Amino acid sequence: MLTERSLIRITSTEQDMLDKLQVLSAKSGSHSPSLGTMQQAIPEINIEIDACYLSNPLATDLFWTHFNADVLADPQLFKRMLEAYPSQNRAIAERLSEAIDIEPNRIFIANGATEAIQAIIHNFSYHLHISTPTFSPYYEFAGADRQVTTFQLDADDNFRVDPEEYVQSVLRSGADTAVLISPNNPDGYLIPDNDLEWILSKLSGLRTIIVDESFVHFAARPTLNGELPTLTGITERFENVTVVKSMSKDFGIAGIRAGYAIMRPERVTQLLESGYLWNTSGIAEYFFSLFGRPDFLVEYRTELTKYKNYIDRFTAASAKFDFVRAFDTSANFQLMQMPNDVSAEVVTALLLLRHGVYVRSCGDKIGLNGEFLRVAIRTESENEKILSAVSEILS
Ligand SMILES: *Cc1c(COP(=O)(O)O)cnc(C)c1O
Repeated sequence: MLTERSLIRITSTEQDMLDKLQVLSAKSGSHSPSLGTMQQAIPEINIEIDACYLSNPLATDLFWTHFNADVLADPQLFKRMLEAYPSQNRAIAERLSEAIDIEPNRIFIANGATEAIQAIIHNFSYHLHISTPTFSPYYEFAGADRQVTTFQLDADDNFRVDPEEYVQSVLRSGADTAVLISPNNPDGYLIPDNDLEWILSKLSGLRTIIVDESFVHFAARPTLNGELPTLTGITERFENVTVVKSMSKDFGIAGIRAGYAIMRPERVTQLLESGYLWNTSGIAEYFFSLFGRPDFLVEYRTELTKYKNYIDRFTAASAKFDFVRAFDTSANFQLMQMPNDVSAEVVTALLLLRHGVYVRSCGDKIGLNGEFLRVAIRTESENEKILSAVSEILS
């Protein structure tokens, strides 16, 4: 049987599942349904590989190893996490300060970077200029009383942010806030340091510039003394810049909700005076302490190097595909454009039904015109299965 929307042959059972999946993803809005939600709604689906959520699996294992060892060594540790309040925002900022080498009064601790994004938009922005495609909270959290305008990135130019065009677009829009995500989600484009410097220097008149570096650990950026790459230093030179950082993807811990933002001290104070006192949890606090431990950081860097090799091997293999266009990426995922007349949604469903591989269909991404999949890069054995599943369906 041939469907209208795809040149791929599918059976009627597969068509039924496809319909169910469509209903489910319509219900979850602009984010994918969680694994739990999906398995509950469609028990026939057996998800073997989660290549939808953008998580570093090696870092999850590393966290888990430490957590287990520490709980074994001190059986009261986990109970205290349940029973007691976590430390206050400023106290956790003190602890993070050393690990990221930023003064504590510039650090706003968040319940995941998503909370920092919400706080910044609601307090320091009126009119946002975003680059599309983008991470959806940047426009969804704007609400009805804020304005959003867009700078369209071009797939044919590998989603590159052209500095001159970008600055002109921001200034023409009249926005008081610009959002730059680097590497960007969903395309993985990294804005080179020189371009970013230049952009920030031209936009010093803006009230707020958000630089989201949630995926920066995966990028090949030069660093001092083997430190983790970060742009947080730029907040000292550009007063209007706020750097947002999620820990979910690079540390593989989306479930515990840990993130932060760096901004000028008055802004942190203003946010904390309006709330966010105990906005993390005991487990997130445990993570922030772990992050500050030199032994953990050495191990994390080792795992990160290993994972980056997996990413390189994955992208080298997908570059050889002649049936999809796989975009260059500086993150731990890759955007793939489907061949003509092939629906990304159908391919996503077939990957799930036939191979148990869950990827992100990007049909709902504003500013992504065409049929795209976003595939998270995993461990070596999972990557092999993902790549062979994609090629089996499409080649
Ligand atoms: C996932 C993501 C975030 C938010 O992650 P949290 O889990 O809330 O920390 C922020 N920015 C970008 C670009 C993301 O992809």
